[in-house]
Amino acid sequence: MVQTRRTFLKTLLGLGAVLFPWSIFPARMGEFVKTELGHPSAELQLPPEIKTKINKESNSESLRRTAMDDIIVLSAPVMQGRRAGSVGEAKASEYLTLQLSLLGLKPMGIPKAGFAQAFTIPPVTETKVNGRLTFRPGRYSDLRIPSANLVGGLRGEKESEIILISAHYDHLGIFEGHLYPGANDNASGVGCILDVIRRILREGKIPKRTIVIAFWSAEEMGFVGSQAFVNNPPFPLHQIKAVLNVDTVGNGVMGDFALWGNGENVAVKAIQQAAAICGASAPITPTAGHNSDSVSFAAAGIPAVTIMTRDWLDKNHTPEDTPAILKPEQIHLASEIIYEAVHILAF
Ligand SMILES: [Zn+2]
Repeated sequence: MVQTRRTFLKTLLGLGAVLFPWSIFPARMGEFVKTELGHPSAELQLPPEIKTKINKESNSESLRRTAMDDIIVLSAPVMQGRRAGSVGEAKASEYLTLQLSLLGLKPMGIPKAGFAQAFTIPPVTETKVNGRLTFRPGRYSDLRIPSANLVGGLRGEKESEIILISAHYDHLGIFEGHLYPGANDNASGVGCILDVIRRILREGKIPKRTIVIAFWSAEEMGFVGSQAFVNNPPFPLHQIKAVLNVDTVGNGVMGDFALWGNGENVAVKAIQQAAAICGASAPITPTAGHNSDSVSFAAAGIPAVTIMTRDWLDKNHTPEDTPAILKPEQIHLASEIIYEAVHILAF
């Protein structure tokens, strides 16, 4: 989640998306992360072919992972708080790229860059507002720091009708010696999205519409990654029929969620219908000066929604946002809601 500042956003939007040779970046990091995380070498040798349904001969370990597995990896000290443009972000990106490729999703980043859609981030500086760390525009700098979204797809019967499910994977990094692990904000959303796609793959059903998964970066700097995607989409934007964005869903009272979005749109309606199926509540709430990546799509006229817990602000943007504050059953419920909504929209 990020606090909105009109001028900040304007500055960022003006920068646009610039291609960067991402391929120079993660190769060595990848080896490090793979070694650190102890993935079986046999899985790493799987061909990165596109699969649209479960293949019993491969990927069983990655299909069995859970959102909490992902959250614990992403919020570990080795990920250094996943600040956009940092080594920590590159490590998180490498972990997520590995998951997407082991699940057999189709790479949909910038051509020849696999899942990655690279862009540059603006200079920022850290500041604290009411005890919470956030970013503000930094002094002018011509340093062009690379960052990247990750985009993968599960092809449906209709390739040109897309349901986009997304979560930002960046967070705040390390500041004044304190690690900001961002377990709830937003490793929880990333874990949910992976759980949804794992469930769909385990069930082996081919969707009618294509499902695209996006992990945004630089959300904490003002939705820079999702804005870069909208400015430079890998497929025509009009093909996106709905955007379901997940941000900070692991805490609070069980089943007590909230939404940011226009109540008339199909994305909001699908989530609310899904929440009812799951026995949860998800009313529209005022953004009150905050927002998330769905705003980049709403501004482009695409039906979009962000789901969060109603208590999302608790420990938000503090070093206490660790896996210890999370409720695995709440995260599971959020995944169920997204799954049901995807079912309504894409099957
Ligand atoms: Zn945040």
